[in-house]
Amino acid sequence: MAALPVYPWSLAPDGLATYRQLRAAGLRPGGQPVVAQLERRRRGRGPLVAYLYRIDRAKPVRPMTAAKRAALAKANTARRRCPQCRRDAGYVIPASLGTCTPCAYPDTGQRAA
Ligand SMILES: [Zn+2]
Repeated sequence: MAALPVYPWSLAPDGLATYRQLRAAGLRPGGQPVVAQLERRRRGRGPLVAYLYRIDRAKPVRPMTAAKRAALAKANTARRRCPQCRRDAGYVIPASLGTCTPCAYPDTGQRAA
């Protein structure tokens, strides 16, 4: 595995940007490999690492198509559906519960109020 050049945080060379910086500029890496990484030392933990891409090889973010929008909406609906009562909970089912809140806590419903 070839080692990437490592730069200190905030000293990225010109022409390179992180994924977030590319997105902020309406760009995406576009399949190019990571060319360098930034590291910020943290006390007591491993360094915070950010990967850098070449801006000149970045491509514009694809505009969202109707099909993609529909697929996303469908995926979001599926994530909101409780697997127990099959209802659309109106929010994404928390992975920690695995069901909607009324199913997870049937005794603490609004009926008590
Ligand atoms: Zn439920």
